[in-house]
Amino acid sequence: MNNVDKFIKLVHECDNIVFFGGAGVSTESGIPDFRSPDGLYNQKYKYPPETIISHSFYQRYPEEFYRFYKDKMLYPDAKPGITHLALAKLEKEGKLKAVVTQNIDGLHQKAGSSNVIELHGSVLRNYCERCHKFYGIDKIINSEGIPMCDCGGRIKPDVVLYEEGLDDNNVTNAVNCIKQADMLIVGGTSLGVYPAAGLIDYYRGDKLVLINKSATPYDNRADILINAPLADVFKNFM
Ligand SMILES: [Zn+2]
Repeated sequence: MNNVDKFIKLVHECDNIVFFGGAGVSTESGIPDFRSPDGLYNQKYKYPPETIISHSFYQRYPEEFYRFYKDKMLYPDAKPGITHLALAKLEKEGKLKAVVTQNIDGLHQKAGSSNVIELHGSVLRNYCERCHKFYGIDKIINSEGIPMCDCGGRIKPDVVLYEEGLDDNNVTNAVNCIKQADMLIVGGTSLGVYPAAGLIDYYRGDKLVLINKSATPYDNRADILINAPLADVFKNFM
């Protein structure tokens, strides 16, 4: 039995699965991976994305931040891929309990997943820094320059920028889900980003499944290691 077949068989035996996903889940929907060689780093902006999408850069050069952000970070027409759809299906079947994601595109919810822990926030949610009024993605897309609230305050995406900490409730929630999981599937992440990657250490079971196209520092910890595109694996559940 190959590793994909082993994985499928185990999924059928589990009913408390947690999926932990990274950029590779959304590249299948046409959203580029920050850290891949053909991702955003090779673009023609003056600063690397890591600099522009940082808290200090946002504070000092909000106009330049938003120029990049609107150009490169928003994909309002992106559609869920096979992996998003399969995970939503597994949730409806009572097998999957939570999706923990590093992505900010809201595609898991679009696919129908309801318990999604967004470690890095979502581009679909935006708040006035002064009165905290909520705005959707349209407000950002349709604003010239820096999006401003009716009250005169600046609108900030509910996205965790570089230099900013993760939301405590999100982390606690993710830790609790992972601790209780009978299977933990880690997919589409090179596991290079902390502290998000450290969440895997909370898993106590013996069904750690790692699915990634390239090697990760956690490969030797995996009970099942699959080096393949996520869609090739998850199409089996559709
Ligand atoms: Zn306001």
